[in-house]
Amino acid sequence: MPSVLKSVLLTSLFAACAGLAAGPALAADDLPNIGSSTERALPLSQEQAIGDAIMRQVRKQAPLADDPEIGDYINRLGFQLVAHNPDGKNHQFQFFVIRDPSINAFALPGGYIGIHTGLVTTAERESELAAVLGHEIAHVTQRHLARRLEAQSQMSLPVLAGMLIGVAAIAAGSGDAGIAALTASQAGAQQHLINYTRSNESEADRIGIDTLAGAGFDPFAVPSMFERMAQAYRYDRKPPEFLMTHPVTQNRVAEGRQRAATFGPGGDRDPLAYALFRARLKSLTGENPQELLKTYEHALAESGDKATAARYGKALALTELRRYDEALPLLEELQRSHPDRLTFALALARLDIAAGRPGPAQSRLEALLRANPGHHAATLTYAQALLLANQPERARTVLQEHVLGHEQDVATYRLLAEAQGRAGYMDEVYESQAQEFFLKGDLDKAIRHLRQALRQRSQDPYARQRIQARLEQYDDLLEQELSQR
Ligand SMILES: [Zn+2]
Repeated sequence: MPSVLKSVLLTSLFAACAGLAAGPALAADDLPNIGSSTERALPLSQEQAIGDAIMRQVRKQAPLADDPEIGDYINRLGFQLVAHNPDGKNHQFQFFVIRDPSINAFALPGGYIGIHTGLVTTAERESELAAVLGHEIAHVTQRHLARRLEAQSQMSLPVLAGMLIGVAAIAAGSGDAGIAALTASQAGAQQHLINYTRSNESEADRIGIDTLAGAGFDPFAVPSMFERMAQAYRYDRKPPEFLMTHPVTQNRVAEGRQRAATFGPGGDRDPLAYALFRARLKSLTGENPQELLKTYEHALAESGDKATAARYGKALALTELRRYDEALPLLEELQRSHPDRLTFALALARLDIAAGRPGPAQSRLEALLRANPGHHAATLTYAQALLLANQPERARTVLQEHVLGHEQDVATYRLLAEAQGRAGYMDEVYESQAQEFFLKGDLDKAIRHLRQALRQRSQDPYARQRIQARLEQYDDLLEQELSQR
């Protein structure tokens, strides 16, 4: 399902980080004898720190679908599944989408789970995407990365360093470069690693199906997704690396079907939400809106959710083409017929903003936020409307409250910095920008901005303390990074 090579690489990066950061401290004697040997090899807290660091590199190098509605959807779906994984509550999770047409999904240390847009294109049903997420969640809860770290502790530093480069390249979406790096550095370790991976994969398959069924989705989406992935590359001379190294065997499909049969068929939980999510993702991935418009015109003849999604997609394409007068009635009608779908209200607000009408956008979003306080996508869109209406002070207030609880969200910090700057709070801008640079893996710039913030706010003891603490944290991280180069 996901790339074995990729999981091998990520596992190895894991090993590299842990080995370098912890060194001899990994010896079992130095650690309290609680939990399993896996926990001793890599405590969860350390796994989280490593995952955070890798995620910052992913934000730096990979083309993320950086859209709050996309983020909201994939996280909602992900957490519906996490709630039904027996160990889900013991781990942190964050789900994200990478704009890459290849079919792929992967779990990073620390519960960061990424999917490529190509996977969404391939998964025609909500349950099929959920099937992949359930599998990745199981890799995290079963601590497969940490378990392989135990098996790999003998690997040499040059091997690990080579893999580290491979991970960065693969996370950035250039799979081939990653494979080259892997081949050059892997030596004899590969077979050993892949053997481990296979047993982990079947465990993740098994737990993934249980999770999927437990959450009320269709467990048969697992074998059907396997078949879809194999089908997608049937005529390619060179399939993607994850199918090459970890083929969808008949055995795997049969096992999936057998296990699904113990649950019986289920359904999708919200098929319309999934259809709308796919349409929104399509409009964000840079496809020609003129072409999309044609596709949607054809799809209008479909029925049910497909027709609704086609009308929505058409409205998004029209908005993109600045044909606001045609998009508006389409969206208004969709909103009338689906008053509970925030998606349509949000699309209307974005249309107003694109057309330079902040007033109506504000009214729509205020109503939306009254009914859904703190809603992420609605709040960010509201801040954009306020900025367009030249009310940066209010946007700043809204975002300053919102950023608490969204400390990992780059888009929130970016908007906050804009609001602070336009409202004349330059000292605050440096701090927000520092956080944005930090999240995007640019520690040098983050530190420079924090120093600037410290100079500007030296009179405020509370701010000074906060900035100094963060500076110390960033300095430590930078030192670690440099020692690993
Ligand atoms: Zn897997």
